[in-house]
Amino acid sequence: MLQGLMMDRPLLVSGILEHAARAYPESTVVSANAAGERSRYTFREIHARVHQLAHALIRLGVKPGDRVGTIAFNSNRHLELYYALAGIGAVCHTINPRLFPEQISWIANHAEDSILFFDTVLTAQVATLAPSLAKGTRFVAMADGPLPSDAPEGTLDYETLIAAEKDSGLFDWPEFSENTACALCYTSGTTGNPKGVLYSHRSQILHALSKMLALLKMFGSDKRILAVVPLFHVNAWGLPYSCFLTGTSMVLPGSRLDGASVFGLMDDEGVTTNFGVPTVWGMLMEEIRKQGRKPATLEHGLIGGAALTMPLLKAMEEFGIRAVQGWGMTETSPVSTTTTADIINGPANANPRKLRQGVPTWTTELKLVDENGKRLPHDGVSRGDLLIRCPYVTSGYYNDAKGTAAAFDEEGWFRTGDVSVIHPTGEMEIVDRSKDLIKSGGEWISSLELESAALSCPGVTAAAAIAVFHPKWSERPLLCVVKAAGAEVSADDVRTSIASRMAKWQVPEDVVFIDALPMTATGKISKLTLRERFKDFYASA
Ligand code: AMP
Repeated sequence: MLQGLMMDRPLLVSGILEHAARAYPESTVVSANAAGERSRYTFREIHARVHQLAHALIRLGVKPGDRVGTIAFNSNRHLELYYALAGIGAVCHTINPRLFPEQISWIANHAEDSILFFDTVLTAQVATLAPSLAKGTRFVAMADGPLPSDAPEGTLDYETLIAAEKDSGLFDWPEFSENTACALCYTSGTTGNPKGVLYSHRSQILHALSKMLALLKMFGSDKRILAVVPLFHVNAWGLPYSCFLTGTSMVLPGSRLDGASVFGLMDDEGVTTNFGVPTVWGMLMEEIRKQGRKPATLEHGLIGGAALTMPLLKAMEEFGIRAVQGWGMTETSPVSTTTTADIINGPANANPRKLRQGVPTWTTELKLVDENGKRLPHDGVSRGDLLIRCPYVTSGYYNDAKGTAAAFDEEGWFRTGDVSVIHPTGEMEIVDRSKDLIKSGGEWISSLELESAALSCPGVTAAAAIAVFHPKWSERPLLCVVKAAGAEVSADDVRTSIASRMAKWQVPEDVVFIDALPMTATGKISKLTLRERFKDFYASA
C-alpha cells in the first residue's frame, strides 16, 4: 500500500478543551446542586479552571496512567475532572454512587484509585466506604461551602486546591499516543464481579464525532443540552466531548432528577435537548402533563439505556418533542445505533420504526449469529445474538482475563448479550436479552447477586431472579423462590436477607414461592421457562 503523506498527530482530549475555549468561549456550563442553586461558567472559565485543576492534580502527585476515582453526580467540577485528568495523561474513573458500599469499594480497589473525588451529598456514603479502601487513598470533597464534618479524615477541598493554582499559568498539556487511556467505567458482570471498560483518547473522540454525525440537529452553539444521563455512567454518553467540540451549552442537574426539578431547569435554562433513560423521561412527561405544556425550548429527547415504549413516544409527540432512540453499552462508549435523521425529522406520527434501536453509527458494524455462531441474514425476521465491532468498542476488560475471554467471538467481535433482528433498512431492533441481568431505571441489578443473597436466607433452597416489565422503571426483578420442605419463610424474610447485601433499590418488591425451578436439558435453571410463565406478571413497585 502507498502510505499517505500526512502528519500523524494524536487525537487527544486536551485538544477538545483548547478548541472549545477558542471557538466557543461564551458557551456555558450551568450546574444545579442538591439545594437547587445554580452555578454558571463560560467555556472560557471552565478552560481556566481545568488548567488550575491540572496543576493541582500534579501537585497531589497524580502521574500519567494513575486512576483517580469520582463518586459524584453531574456538575461542572465533575466535568472539569474529565478534562484535567485526561489532559495530564491520567484516568478519570467514574463510580456509580447508587451501588452498595461493598460493590463500590470492590470497584475502587480493583481500579487501584489513588484519590477519590466526591460530591458532598455523598459524604456519609464515602465515610462508610473509606475504611474498606486501600490504605493511603486520599479524598477530595467537591463542596459548595465548608467541608462536611463527617468527611473522612484529611479530606481536601476542591475549590481550595484550584484556587491555590490561580497564578500558576496555563498548563502545558503533554503529548502522548491517542491510544492512551483517559477514562474508566465499570459495568455489572453477569457472572462474577463488575468489569472495567478502559476508554482511550482516540475512542472517545471518534465516538463523540460519530454520535454528533448521527444527531446533527441537537448540537451547535445555539443549542443547550441537559445531561440527565450521569457523568458516572459511560461518560454521560460522550456528552462532555461532543458538547465542547460543537460549542453546545451544557446544563448539569446534580442529584435532583424528579420531574419538577428537571422541568424547571429546562424551562429556565432554555434547554433544547435532554439525554436520559426512559424512567427519567417518564417522570418528566408526568410533569409536562401536569403543567399542560413542555419546557418552552425543548425540541428533542434522546432516549437510551432501555427501550423507548409506544406510550412514551406518543406522549412526547403529543407535546411536540421529537423522540430519538439510541442503543449502546458501557463497552461501546456507548452510542452505537440511533434513529435515522429522516425518521427523527419526519412527521410526528408515532412511527413504529422509532421503537427500533436504530441504524449503526459511523464505524459501527453489527452482526447477528445463531447459537452455533453462524451468521444470520439482516431480513427483519431472523433473531440472533448481536455482536459488534468498532474503534470505540472495548477490546478487553481492565485486568480481567477471564471476563475478556468470554466476551469476544473467534473473529474478535464483542458479544453484546442482546438478542436482535436487523431490518433490511439497516435498523437494529432489540427483541430480547441473553445476558442474565435486570435493568431497572437504567441501572443494572445482577440476578446472580440477588439469587445468592436470597440463598443466604434460612429455609430457601433455590432462587432465580428474572426481569418483569414495569411502566416506570422499564424492568423490576421478580424473585422465584423454592422453600425447603417444612420451612417457614416469608417474602419479607427473603427481602431482609437481600437488603443486608444489596442496595435498597435492588431489593425486589416481588417474591413468589414456587415448588421447583424449571431446568434445561443441561441442568441449568431455565430462565426462559420462568420468563414465559411470568410474562404477564405486573410488578408491584
Ligand atoms: P449499559 O452497559 O449499562 O449501558 O447497558 C447496556 C445495555 O442496556 C444494552 O446491552 C441493552 O441491553 C440495554 N439498552 C441500552 N439501550 C437500549 C435501548 N435503546 N433499547 C433497549 N435496550 C437498551
